[in-house]
Amino acid sequence: MKKVFVLAGSDTSGGAGIQADLKTYQETGVYGMTALTTIVAQNPEKGWAHDVYPIDVDTVQAQIRTILDGVGVDIMKTGMLPTTEIIELAAETIDKYNLPAVVDPVLACKGQDEPLYPENAKALRELLVPKALITTPNLFEAGQLAEMDNITTIEEMKEASSRIHELGAKNVIVKGGHEVEGDQAVDVFYDGEVYILLENEIIDTKYTHGAGCTFASAITSALVKGQSPMKSVEFAKNFITNAIQGSWRLNQYVGPVNQYENR
Ligand code: ADP
Repeated sequence: MKKVFVLAGSDTSGGAGIQADLKTYQETGVYGMTALTTIVAQNPEKGWAHDVYPIDVDTVQAQIRTILDGVGVDIMKTGMLPTTEIIELAAETIDKYNLPAVVDPVLACKGQDEPLYPENAKALRELLVPKALITTPNLFEAGQLAEMDNITTIEEMKEASSRIHELGAKNVIVKGGHEVEGDQAVDVFYDGEVYILLENEIIDTKYTHGAGCTFASAITSALVKGQSPMKSVEFAKNFITNAIQGSWRLNQYVGPVNQYENR
């Protein structure tokens, strides 16, 4: 059994974060272990506002020890990292254990376009993204990492992916999703040599909670099973398209993607 170490946040509503990651690993036949970096609770009295409760760095470190000294893994995947200290710890962990890493550079909860902590973009750019085997920014995160405003076209996605590659990430996939020009959900993959466009019809739904986490985890599963980065993003694109097709309404605010739709 291939084993994955996930360093990410908990989504109390169950759709994103480590909950999405573990469901994706279950559906793809790999074993996930999680070190929680933060707990995100949603406030039903305040229109589902996201309240973020970071975990202190010693507690994160204790979880990392359990997983990496107590068991050992084949690959690491990062999600929401709430403080620069935890971003630093993630980068040190990659080096210390010599792990291939999928870095999902989460900067905001879905539906919120302000970074949780502005200083985190700089720390991700300087400390963590350079160590990524692959990084998976959405348009907002790509803009922050590449220091570009308002990416809306495929040409700008290519420019962003090459700037992020220059930071040191070996492979980059910029997720356009439903926000990019045209009527396709387009992602741009760049490995330093060629740009590949991954396209699917945009699925007409507002229920895409957990799409980014699921996508990055599906890439992780394919990589750890020996696929190339390019084949892994193709696998993940297909996996997330099915999961969005099966998404559903959880309450008046949110609807999660459904990994089970890949069975
Ligand atoms: P994030 O959750 O990080 O914002 P996205 O939702 O932008 O991530 O992207 C995750 C994956 O889902 C990407 O491959 C993207 O193209 C795809 N995707 C997002 N929304 C849709 C949609 N409405 N229809 C089809 N694919 C989508």
